[in-house]
Formats: sequence, structure tokens, C-alpha cells
Amino acid sequence: MNIILLGPPGAGKGTQASRLVEDRGMVQLSTGDMLRAAVKAQTPVGLKAKAVMEAGELVSDEIVSGIIGEALDGLPAETGVIFDGYPRTEAQAHSLDAILADRGRSLDHVIELEVDEDALVERITGRFTCASCGEGYHDTFKTPKIADTCDRCGAHEFKRRPDDNEETVRTRMAEYRAKTAPILPIYEARGIVSRVDGMADMGEVTKAIAAILDGGKG
Ligand code: AMP
Repeated sequence: MNIILLGPPGAGKGTQASRLVEDRGMVQLSTGDMLRAAVKAQTPVGLKAKAVMEAGELVSDEIVSGIIGEALDGLPAETGVIFDGYPRTEAQAHSLDAILADRGRSLDHVIELEVDEDALVERITGRFTCASCGEGYHDTFKTPKIADTCDRCGAHEFKRRPDDNEETVRTRMAEYRAKTAPILPIYEARGIVSRVDGMADMGEVTKAIAAILDGGKG
């Protein structure tokens, strides 16, 4: 099974993707995570992407489609994939079709997380993760049970994304509205789009996604 999680920044794509990884043994392909790793490692892709990402703008279609193709090549054919943060433009949506077809894969579901944009700014600017295991936290909604200690692995270091500030978040949302939301009709025409209330409790969102994946298409 191959699925796309679609929604503006902060909609909960990453959180839900990690749950699908844990619950179903699927693999999460997050272009954002792969790009952040490239920036950290200072690879040629990372060097090109750094400033664009810091501004909240979109990295070129060639770069992201290239890294998605490479990532898929490293996976067994039967492994289900969750595309998280990709595709984000019409060109990427068409590239993904070609990339999947070349590898004998197809898309089963596109799940859109519907959210209220103003609430998202608060969600995003307050979020941070464990520097060691990646567990997600929030200044208001989910603080560690013991101060400065990760609930999951006990580490004491946390990190925040440099693009999680209000100005950049607004740009990222504008990019989503202008370039990403318009790709939905491509998938609607195929009858594979489902919508989930992304403002609901995280556990409810997980259940709603499970019902879609277990209940057939659309
Ligand atoms: P994300 O972690 O998905 O919010 O992505 C963080 C940043 O990485 C975005 O604001 C973009 O600058 C870049 N990025 C991630 N995925 C893509 C993509 N599919 N196309 C273009 N840029 C991307």
C-alpha cells in the first residue's frame, strides 16, 4: 500500500506517519526530513536547499523528486510507503506517478488532514523534538512528564526546527495554499482522496486514518 499524507505544515502529517510506521511496518518518506539530513550533512543537495528551507519556500521539483526516487530504490517492492510532505506541486505529482509506475507501484490513498490555519501557527511555533529519539513535544499541548527529560528515551536534549518561526510558517502556509492544495483535484479525479479532521485529538486522527486504510479506497 502506498499513500500520500497531505496537509499544511503542522497538520500532523509527521506524527501520523510515525504511527503508521509503528503500527503497520510501513516506511515514511518525508522529503522535509531527508532535506534536513542533507543540510546537516552539508551534501550538495543540502547546500542548495538550506536557504530556501529557511525562507519557507519550496526546494526545486528536480531535487525532491530525485531524492524520492532514490529512497524508493532502497526499499523492497512489498514495503508500503507513506509520502509525507511530497508531492507539493503539480510537477511533483506527475513525477511521482512516473516514479511509482517505473517501480511497479501505485497510489492507494491520498489522505488530506483538514486544519484551521490560525491554530496551526500556535501548534508549529511551540513544537520541539527529542534530539535523540525524535519524540515530538509542544510547549503548551505536550510537555515532557519530567522537565527536560524525554518521556520515551530519557534523553535531556531537545531541538526546534529553524523554520518553525511565525514568519516562515506563514510563508510555508502560503506555499501550501498556492502550490500544494491545487494538486488535490488530480487525485480526486481518481477517487482516492479521503479527508480527516486534523484538528481532532491525535488518537482520533490515527483511528480515522486506520479506518480509511482498512476500509478500501476513497
Ligand atoms: P516539511 O518538513 O515537510 O515541513 O518541509 C520543510 C521544508 O523543506 C519546506 O518548507 C520546503 O522548504 C522543503 N521541502 C520539503 N518537502 C518539499 C517538497 N516536496 N518540495 C519542495 N520543498 C520541500
